[in-house]
Amino acid sequence: MENNLDKAVDLIVNSKYAIAFTGAGISVESGIPPFRGETGLWSKYDSNVLDLNNFHINPVEAWKVIKEIFYDFFGEAKANPAHLALAEMEQLGLLKSIITQNIDNLHFEAGSKEVYEFHGNSRMLVCPYCATKIKASEADLSDIPLCNQCHAVLKPDFIFFGEGIPEIAYKNSFEASNKTDLMIIIGSMGEVHPAASLPQLAKQNGAKIVEINLERTLFTESITDIFLEGKASEIMNQLLIGIKQKI
Ligand code: NAD
Repeated sequence: MENNLDKAVDLIVNSKYAIAFTGAGISVESGIPPFRGETGLWSKYDSNVLDLNNFHINPVEAWKVIKEIFYDFFGEAKANPAHLALAEMEQLGLLKSIITQNIDNLHFEAGSKEVYEFHGNSRMLVCPYCATKIKASEADLSDIPLCNQCHAVLKPDFIFFGEGIPEIAYKNSFEASNKTDLMIIIGSMGEVHPAASLPQLAKQNGAKIVEINLERTLFTESITDIFLEGKASEIMNQLLIGIKQKI
C-alpha cells in the first residue's frame, strides 16, 4: 500500500495534465450518503422523485422528497479534507481540473476553481420552460417553488433521469479526458453513464489511472493502474503530504 502511495505521488508530481474524476464517495465523509448500496439514499427514498416525467406529473409530491434530501439534508454538508486536498493540488499547479458527478457544490466550497459539474448542481433552481435560474437559498421551499417569470414549477438545476448532460460541462469534461496524462478517480463505482466513459477515454488516450475507493469497482478491474484502498480524506491527505515532500 505504502509503495502504491509513493508510486501515485510520483505520477502526480511528474504529470503534465492531471485531472480528477469524482463520484458520491468523496462526499460521504461530509455526511452525504451515495444513492445506491445498502446505506444509499435509494434504500430509504423512491428514486422515482428524480424521474423527469414523474416530476412534471406530480411536482408537489416530488418536491416534498427533493426538499428533504437535497436541501434540508445536503444543505448542511461541508467540504471535507479530500475536497480541500484537491483544491490545494490545483493551487500548487498539479491539478488542471475536476470532473465531478456530484451535485453538492463541495468542490467549489473547498476552493477549487476549474470544476466541471457533469450532472449539474443543486444550489441553483431552473425553470424547465423559460430557463430562468435562481439560487435555491433564495427560494421559499416550504411550498413548491415557482418561476417568477412564467410561474412554472422550478426544478433543481441538476439532471433528472431522462435528461441530457449540461452542454458546457460535457464539452469541458470530454476535452479534459482527451488531454489528460493522469486521472485520479475518487469514490465512483463506474456504473453511471455517460460519466463512466470519461475514465475509459482517458485510458484509451494513454493516461495513467490512480483510483481511490473503499472497495474495488468496475474501473479497478479494467483500467486502474494504481488502486489506493481507503477513505478518500485519509488517502488524499497522505498523497498531499507525499507531494509536498517531493516538490
Ligand atoms: P457512485 O458511483 O457515486 O459510487 C459511490 C462510490 O463511493 C462507491 O464505489 C463506494 O465504495 C465509494 N465510497 C463510499 N464512501 C467512500 C469514502 N469515504 N471514500 C472513498 N470512496 C468511498 O454511486 P451512486 O452513489 O449510486 O451515485 C450515482 C450518481 O449520483 C453519481 O453520479 C453520483 O455522483 C451522484 N450522487 C451525488 C451525490 C452528491 O452530490 N454528493 C450523492 C449521491 C449520488
